[in-house]
Amino acid sequence: MTPPPDNIIATETLGSTVPMKTVHVRSWGCQMNVYDSQRMVDLLAPLGYRPVDRADGADIVILNTCHIREKATEKLFSELGRLKETKQAKAASGGNMILAVAGCVAQAEGPVIMARARHVDIVVGPQSYHSLPELVARASRAKGEPILMTDFPVESKFDHLPEEASPRGVSAFLTIQEGCDKFCAFCVVPYTRGAEYSRPPGDILVEAARLALSGVRELTLLGQNVNAYHGGARDGTIWTLGQLIRAVAEIPGIDRIRYTTSHPNDMDDALIAAHAQVPALMPFLHLPVQSGSDRILARMNRKHSAADYLAVIERLRAARPDIALSSDFIVGFPGETEKDFQATLDLVVAVGFAQAYSFKYSPRPGTPASSAADAVPEAVKSERLARLQATILKGQMRFNQASVGQIVPVLLDRAGSRPGQLHGRSPHMQSVHVAAPVHLLGRIVSVRIEDGRALSLTGSLIQTEPGGMVT
Ligand code: SF4
Repeated sequence: MTPPPDNIIATETLGSTVPMKTVHVRSWGCQMNVYDSQRMVDLLAPLGYRPVDRADGADIVILNTCHIREKATEKLFSELGRLKETKQAKAASGGNMILAVAGCVAQAEGPVIMARARHVDIVVGPQSYHSLPELVARASRAKGEPILMTDFPVESKFDHLPEEASPRGVSAFLTIQEGCDKFCAFCVVPYTRGAEYSRPPGDILVEAARLALSGVRELTLLGQNVNAYHGGARDGTIWTLGQLIRAVAEIPGIDRIRYTTSHPNDMDDALIAAHAQVPALMPFLHLPVQSGSDRILARMNRKHSAADYLAVIERLRAARPDIALSSDFIVGFPGETEKDFQATLDLVVAVGFAQAYSFKYSPRPGTPASSAADAVPEAVKSERLARLQATILKGQMRFNQASVGQIVPVLLDRAGSRPGQLHGRSPHMQSVHVAAPVHLLGRIVSVRIEDGRALSLTGSLIQTEPGGMVT
């Protein structure tokens, strides 16, 4: 799953009679961590905790962690070092700050965190954060006695999550599936998030309808292996992702649907047909491939070849010719030769990705590849990463420049980087900047694209009908 920027959860909306206490949540890693962090805030709201965007002075601080790359764990420990002083400052002013570590590093390295950072009060895994209210109560009573909760409970945490305590804006994430059974040789997800679990479609539709009522127009359905979704309905039928997307598209107010992250082997006919037949399903797909070399794909245990991947792309483009594609790449996987790497570059050029993420291989504790003997030297990894990113950027530039002169529907989701400018997303997930009045935030407007750069587009609003430029 691809990481959005570091995320601070903070809103000022909770009117209630319970004495106001504050919670600061810092979220690293993927979109699912963002969703989980929002749900943690929802869980603490009924106890009177209001989210704030700074740790200083907060009553609870939660670090929601990612375990995908080596740096992520070190980042956690340096942050915990800083928060030790923040916690001491709170104690010095007669208060008590509860410090919690959640997410995938908590799941994978709970005892290590408790040993290395004794000022941490709670360590809770991704499958157990629904117990936060009880854990906070215990931590408040047992000052200084750390609590570790990293079970994989039988009951699903989703059954214990409350309604949203604060609006999510116009674009929201919704977890529908969690965990993974693929066991790619470099990946920690099957160990930190557990086996694949698909939420019942009825529960997902109820949550989606609530989000639509709160003003959400674009919904991104989340899963570590989202297109392996197989939700059990009350009538005993098993729903696939294609079926679920059709049902979500029926919800009034939901104009745009996206989903992430997928595996090439689970792009079934129903899902590809949905790309052709469901207008609300956006023509954009993030489909990680990791490498273009069959030898490396086999060593990664990806269970498909480069040709299999290209065949999926062909089926997608036959169904939705204007679909934009994104992917993930790892360079420097153990044993990768120059020939293997060249195969990756060739695949990038052959597909013509609209965007893609690329990383140097970093061994993750407990994964099969981490014990490989034939590691690629760091300098070679860096040199290959630079070449790959240059190739990807060229493709991104070409894709965005092809939009110049077109009129594109853009969902305006926040203020732009310049005064009087708003930011939005095209159906192809392109970042678009346009001069527009703030009252158009949350609306889908028509924009004529005037400039295309590697990472974004700029354009001007189009007056489509008298007084209305909004669709
Ligand atoms: S498909 Fe592979 S890379 Fe993706 S979450 Fe599963 S094990 Fe990890």
